[in-house]
Order: sequence, then C-alpha cells, then structure tokens
Amino acid sequence: MTAATAISLSQTAKTFPDGTRALEPLDLKIEGGETLVLLGPSGCGKTTLLRLIAGLETPDPGGSILFNDNDVTPLPIEKRNVGMVFQSYALFPNMSVRQNIGYGLRVRRMPDNESRKRTDEMLEMMQITQLADRTIDQLSGGQRQRVALARAIAVRPQVLLLDEPLTALDALLRERLRVDIDALLRSLGTTAVYVTHDQAEAMALGDRIVVMDHGKVEQIGTAQDIYFKPKTAFVADFIGTMNRLPLAFTDGVAHIQDTPIPEANNLPSNAREVLFRPEEIEIVEAHDAHFKGRVETAFFLGDRNRLVVSGVGADLLSIDVGPRVVIGVGDELPFRLRVDALMPSI
Ligand code: ADP
Ligand code: MG
Repeated sequence: MTAATAISLSQTAKTFPDGTRALEPLDLKIEGGETLVLLGPSGCGKTTLLRLIAGLETPDPGGSILFNDNDVTPLPIEKRNVGMVFQSYALFPNMSVRQNIGYGLRVRRMPDNESRKRTDEMLEMMQITQLADRTIDQLSGGQRQRVALARAIAVRPQVLLLDEPLTALDALLRERLRVDIDALLRSLGTTAVYVTHDQAEAMALGDRIVVMDHGKVEQIGTAQDIYFKPKTAFVADFIGTMNRLPLAFTDGVAHIQDTPIPEANNLPSNAREVLFRPEEIEIVEAHDAHFKGRVETAFFLGDRNRLVVSGVGADLLSIDVGPRVVIGVGDELPFRLRVDALMPSI
C-alpha cells in the first residue's frame, strides 16, 4: 500500500486554440487522500481543470502538474494512473456489467482469476452484484453510475476524477448515491477531485471546496469557511442565500434604518452594508425588534418557511422561519437579527 498521491499545480492555465481562456494561471496543492470539490456555474472552467489533471488537455506553456514528486505535465491520460467518472456514463453498452468493470483490468493484462476476484470485490462494494450479468441498457441511470464508479476504481487509480457524476440523476437517487460516494471515497483513501455545480453536493463531499468563476478561483476552503466567511461577493451570493442591508454609523453606533444596534460593535465603522443568511434572523416581540418588514411571499418548504420581506432597504430579504409558524402574505412583522452572525459587506 503506497501513500495517497498529492497533486500540485503550478501556474496551470488553459487557453483553447480559438482563443478561449478557460482557466487563468492557478497554483493549487491537493493533499494526498483529500476529496477536493470544484464548484462553480456552468462554463467557469471546472471540466477544463479536471481534464488538465487527467492528462486529457495540456496546460499552456509555463504551467506544470505534479503527482507527488513526479512531473506528469507531458504525460497522456494512460500514463497517469487516474480513474475517471463522467456525467454521461461512457460505458460500453453491448458489454455486461462485469465486462465493463473488468475492462481496465484486461487492458492492463491482469490474469483472469485475479481480474475476476477484483471485479467481484467492486460489484460488492458498489452493491450491484445482482446486476453482474446484465447489459448496460438494462440498467437505470443510478445503476449505470454505480458501474461507472466500479470500473473507475477497479484499477486502483492513484487519483479519482469525477465530473458531475450525479447531475443526470433524479433528486432522491442523487442524494443516496452521494452518501455512498462519500463513504467510498473515505474508505478508499484515494485522492479525489469532484466537479459539481450543486452546492449541497459540494458541501457534503468536499474536504475542501474550490469556488470558481470565469476561469478563476474565487475561494478555497472548507464548506464552513465558504458559507460563513465568503471572501468575495461572488462566493457570498453563489453559496446559499445572502441578504444585504444598509448600515449607518451615527456617533459610533451602528444603525439599521433609524434603529440603533449597539451590540453590532464587531463591525468595522466604515461598513455601509451588512450581509446575513436567512436563518440568522427571527420574528420577535415588537420591543425587541431591529426592524419591521412586510411579507411579500411565503414559501412552505417542508422543513421551514422561506419568507420574502420588503420594507427594509431597497432589496427584498429572504428570511427562514419554522415550518409550523403560520404567516400570511401582507403581514407586518417585527424581526431581530443575530448580531454576532452579521458580516460586513465585501
Ligand atoms: P464547466 O465545466 O465549468 O462548465 P468548461 O471547463 O467546460 O466549464 O469550459 C470553460 C470554458 O471553456 C467555457 O467558456 C467553454 O465554452 C470553453 N471551452 C471548453 N472546451 C473548449 C474547447 N475544446 N474549445 C474552446 N473552448 C472550450
Ligand atoms: Mg463541466
């Protein structure tokens, strides 16, 4: 058993022949055994970065990629010992599940008995033993993705690369397979890079998350870092829902509209705006309120009610209250902020 592979990118950039700059120069160290998630909107360069790590694309001159101490920059994918899983399964439709999983082992000339044993292990690990003799077109989307995962890990790759593997699946299946992938990545201990545009998936799977936009890294951190301490306006708005309220300092005391908030002394006195999440605010008695707002819309979401509130600042606010609170559109309600959760604007 060798130690998990660390990946180091240095000044890695990608410009396509048509001039599209898909990735700005990037320095990034991925720890051995880490699951790193690349998160960002469509077109931000996630797949390009993954393909550079895979060896399916070459970086612009000056960029380099190391697996541990080995410079793999000039190596094509078949010399990098990586496993890949895509959104579109890329399985062989006319082969059985077993043949698909064993494919990479045959290519590597593993003896038949060993290959059969390894394939059985993979079938069991992905809980698809009962599907071993079916062909791919006899499988559901979720089952196909389990086969694709089994095939990718059968060869015991140094690095596992996953590009939106769950995007094509329906919500319930996606959540179930996400839990299984999480357990799988942890038990394998393989270094993994996982691409998604789904923040719930990113937060659930990533030891660290790289938030990207327009070919650039906006922030790298744990799910908590990114949610509670967004470094840029893009990250604040892309991850979860963020409210913005105008803030004014009068005689050194923070005010929201005309209400003094003396507890807000952790905010810099040059802050003109505060940011807060929908869950950092509650309905209170009028005398405890920081402001009053009017409910424009109320969405019942099962685990909570999401209110859209006007009357404070120019923007509408999103506010979460408990699922059993009865709220009517048009209600005027007193609200109180959790002052220690307020962030100065960025
Ligand atoms: P994501 O995976 O985040 O959706 P991609 O990495 O696929 O983004 O694409 C990043 C940018 O590079 C996009 O603007 C895309 O149109 C462009 N792009 C991707 N592949 C190519 C290519 N082969 N030639 C030219 N432009 C490309
Ligand atoms: Mg992509």
